[in-house]
Amino acid sequence: MTSIVLFGPPGAGKGTQATRITQSTGLPQVSTGDMLRAAVKHGTTTGIAAKEFMDAGKLVPDSIIIDLIRDRVKQPDAVNGLMFDGFPRTIPQAEALSQITDVSHVIAIEVPDSKIVERICGRYSCSVCGAVFHDKFNPTTSQGICNECGSSELKRRADDNEATVTQRLDAYHQQTSPLAEWYDGQGIFHRIDGDREIDEITKDILLALQ
Ligand code: AMP
Repeated sequence: MTSIVLFGPPGAGKGTQATRITQSTGLPQVSTGDMLRAAVKHGTTTGIAAKEFMDAGKLVPDSIIIDLIRDRVKQPDAVNGLMFDGFPRTIPQAEALSQITDVSHVIAIEVPDSKIVERICGRYSCSVCGAVFHDKFNPTTSQGICNECGSSELKRRADDNEATVTQRLDAYHQQTSPLAEWYDGQGIFHRIDGDREIDEITKDILLALQ
């Protein structure tokens, strides 16, 4: 089992790129943020424990996240590896991941903080297929209709607001960005300029994965 990690601040475009890379690599996308939102929606024990951290823009405790991942890798589609989006976010999470799977590439999508708030506060996604859009940078072709699956169930995330974004960026700088050095030392860390057209970023990520 050999996996890929998509790394970067909130709003860097990890989810958008993950959907595209999944189509090329065949590796299933695993977003801990999506898993946690589903757990909150269904009122599971994990969801109840995670909600207060998510609402505050703080990281959910490592033990909760690592348990989620240990369960996820047991599913049959994980046999050839997974593409992690938004995981790991701390050194203990990365250490746990290294016990679970080999990681061949860590793709860091880099976007300056000054661009993050606008990117996050304008985004919305399709509840049915998960496609991500943005009011300004990537709007749906027909208003209110998903380009990918035609659904009209478009939604915005509760934590995509200016107050929470600042907290999420702080958590990224304090707890997640030290991972860059950790992975760089292993020679598997690839920096991609994420402040460009979506297609250009995808092209560079696919080149890095060759
Ligand atoms: P995301 O969808 O990746 O932006 O994650 C949304 C929120 O879920 C984050 O602000 C955290 O509260 C929580 N979260 C997602 N993934 C992780 C993780 N790997 N470690 C800790 N908290 C996480």
